Amino acid sequence: MKSERRRSRKVWVGDVAVGGDAPIVVQSMTNTDTADAEATARQVYELARAGSELVRITVNTAEAASQVAKIREMLDRMGCSVPIVGDFHFNGHKLLSQYPECAEALAKYRINPGNVGAGKKRDEQFAAMIETACRYDKPVRIGVNWGSLDPDLLARMMDDNAKREKPLEAGEIQKEALIVSALSSAARAVELGLSPDKIVLSCKVSDVQDLIEVYTDLASRCDYPLHLGLTEAGMGSKGIVASTAALAVLLQAGIGDTIRVSLTPEPGGDRTKEVVVAQEILQTMGFRSFSPLVTACPGCGRTTSVFFQELASDIQDYLRSQMPVWRNRYPGVENMSVAVMGCVVNGPGESKLANVGISLPGSGENPAAPVYVDGVKTVTLKGDRIAQEFQLIIDDYVRTRYGNER
Ligand code: SF4
Repeated sequence: MKSERRRSRKVWVGDVAVGGDAPIVVQSMTNTDTADAEATARQVYELARAGSELVRITVNTAEAASQVAKIREMLDRMGCSVPIVGDFHFNGHKLLSQYPECAEALAKYRINPGNVGAGKKRDEQFAAMIETACRYDKPVRIGVNWGSLDPDLLARMMDDNAKREKPLEAGEIQKEALIVSALSSAARAVELGLSPDKIVLSCKVSDVQDLIEVYTDLASRCDYPLHLGLTEAGMGSKGIVASTAALAVLLQAGIGDTIRVSLTPEPGGDRTKEVVVAQEILQTMGFRSFSPLVTACPGCGRTTSVFFQELASDIQDYLRSQMPVWRNRYPGVENMSVAVMGCVVNGPGESKLANVGISLPGSGENPAAPVYVDGVKTVTLKGDRIAQEFQLIIDDYVRTRYGNER
């Protein structure tokens, strides 16, 4: 059973609410060179079209900072209002002050307290970024990361630990240092004049159990909204599984206000995959609905042709590709369920439970595919055009059930 969602403050990022009673927000990040405004705007657009509700871009150089306002303008011209978040490390204080149009165009700044400079400079540079956020009335994410944890803080905490009568394991101190870095940076930002309602926190690590431990602890020690993500999750199924395992445990415990799935794309792979995975985590766990989901059996010795796999995959792709249009035209369509089943064993039963379901003929069965609409068998498809005819049935169902033609 899902736990009650942890109570957090609500932070507005542009017109997107994060935390409080707002739905858990899906976000993503570009991997283009931000100095290439056209490529970055195009990818932000694609990520937003796939369903990313916030998109972060790297702002790492003067060239990148100088293009941020242009990227915003290009997106506006494309009719894409997704808020863009600037990811700053090392030189963010300079870039934000030297490029005021960048500071203005961004909807949120991500600040990594481990990468804002060392010693006295660290405090000054952190303060400069917070002052810019106050001046432009922008929220910030204080985003601590295992790979760039403030080395001075960690060294101090390790020294203190060594002086204890019974020192803790080094790993425990590292996890505590992540949390202390986030909380003390947030406290400093508030001292500098930033409203607590403008702060989101994250403490990302790359190990599933560590992430669960760190966020569970962090959640109990503050009421800032939390951005969840397993950093450096990796490629392919490993990245998806590790992210899902970590996020699912935390979300189930009511922890997490916005999520990002940090997948390494395959060479030439589609960046929007991380958005789809994030949505599917939230949808399959019952937190939100984004797109109709296809229930499909795994197939077995009864499905010896690839037709069944192709149909399940084509229908899932088709439903997703229609969502940018359907989302507004057919409210509620995201809750629709479609079943594509491989044979008569579980096919009719599972198809009846879906809004629209098809039970394909398994090997040796009569080559006929009964279709069920809201639990009732309506037609039996045969021949070479089963896929096309099934798609037409889905289109018709969407129009009549979710459109004005009801
Ligand atoms: S429904 Fe049929 S084809 Fe699908 S896994 Fe079960 S027995 Fe195999």
